[in-house]
Amino acid sequence: MLKNILKSSECAKCKICCIFDKYDIWETPIIDEELKNKIEKRFPEFSFVKKGEGWIFRMTEAEDELFYCPALDKNTGCKLGEDKPFDCKIWPYRIMEFGGKRVISIASICPTMYGKPLSELCGELERDDLAGKIFSFADLHPDIVKPYEEGYPILKAEKESRRD
Ligand code: SF4
Repeated sequence: MLKNILKSSECAKCKICCIFDKYDIWETPIIDEELKNKIEKRFPEFSFVKKGEGWIFRMTEAEDELFYCPALDKNTGCKLGEDKPFDCKIWPYRIMEFGGKRVISIASICPTMYGKPLSELCGELERDDLAGKIFSFADLHPDIVKPYEEGYPILKAEKESRRD
């Protein structure tokens, strides 16, 4: 989804967004029922934990106190291809709730994207109405909207407050 701004070769070298520590385990991607069923057929060895209306992968803690996504192949990257969760497709953009509004922010932990100029990061959200697609997906899957976290610069807010 971000092919214009983020090369898959850069992601393949990094993989930081697929490994979690105890502080960012809340960032684990949300998986809807339909996608869960699809993934289960391909990878019956994966297990899931209910979260809100959706699911997250059950991750086991590795020796280094990190949690590795079960879909991560350490050599080739994500095994899911086009079936990866929407959260992963838009990473490091995040949709969050801030002061009663949904906003799109960026995770500063992504070294490649965070180094890009603001004009490029905001421009990508306007290209092909990516921001609109993110808000529309969140209308159907509100579980992907995360509470605002300090340190995530906000790039775009939706026009109307959802509490009005
Ligand atoms: S589903 Fe794929 S892209 Fe998403 S965290 Fe897991 S390995 Fe990474």
